[in-house]
Amino acid sequence: MLYAGCHLSNSAGNMAMVETALSIGANTFAFFTRNPRGSKAKPEDPQDCARAVEALREHGFGPLVAHGAYTMNLCTAEASAREFAASVLCDDLRRMSYLPGNYYNFHPGSHVGQGVEAGIDHIVKALKKALEPGYPVTVLLETMAGKGSEIGGRFEELKAIIDGVGDSTLGVCLDSCHVHDGGYDIVNDLDGVLAEFDRVIGLNRLKALHLNDSKNPYESHKDRHELLGQGHLGENTFKAIVNHPVLSKLPMILETPNELPGYAREIALLRQLQD
Ligand code: FE
Ligand code: FE
Ligand code: ZN
Repeated sequence: MLYAGCHLSNSAGNMAMVETALSIGANTFAFFTRNPRGSKAKPEDPQDCARAVEALREHGFGPLVAHGAYTMNLCTAEASAREFAASVLCDDLRRMSYLPGNYYNFHPGSHVGQGVEAGIDHIVKALKKALEPGYPVTVLLETMAGKGSEIGGRFEELKAIIDGVGDSTLGVCLDSCHVHDGGYDIVNDLDGVLAEFDRVIGLNRLKALHLNDSKNPYESHKDRHELLGQGHLGENTFKAIVNHPVLSKLPMILETPNELPGYAREIALLRQLQD
């Protein structure tokens, strides 16, 4: 069973996303918990959430992979802005408890000149505060391309956050475009990259995938997504991923430059590529 899906708009609620997912052949999906470029969030509708939970179960969906807002920078320089970001994280996790058993993924943050260590320190503090024991949602850190002062471009940085928090449930969402742009050669040596991930973080932490091709060459530290098979990763990389014994079981989320018909085609392609 391959769990494949894409980012969907949550403007019409959770049940509407389930219906849209079904219409494009998806059996998982991602959504922004709030305006991805702002911080506004609609109040949750418990009835809509309950209906969605039931429909997800009924249709055999894999775990959903919600995404925190891009603007939520837990390690920004200014203390009050950091506190605001941390409060957004807390609120997101509270909201996710209406969709229990799913994932919440976010970009660790950008240290904006304070240095990697100081940045990791801020992120750890925010997570320690937000992660109340018993939350029915698993928090994932996304692998980043290492653009600008982004934290999470190296597996070691994610590991330092996980160790700092000391929470055994933190996981990782691996973005194929980001790791390639960040200098992990999944095109020519997928198994080598996974061995490195296992050595540094542990493959038991790997919970979800973002499947994107890249507009830019290896190690470019750029982060521009391309349609599957039309960038520097190429279709064979995705064929290797969907047939990999570890990776093939994880929810796969497309963040390619598509509208719904394009996503439907790429979800079908992923299923076709599976032997
Ligand atoms: Fe992301
Ligand atoms: Fe991503
Ligand atoms: Zn990206």
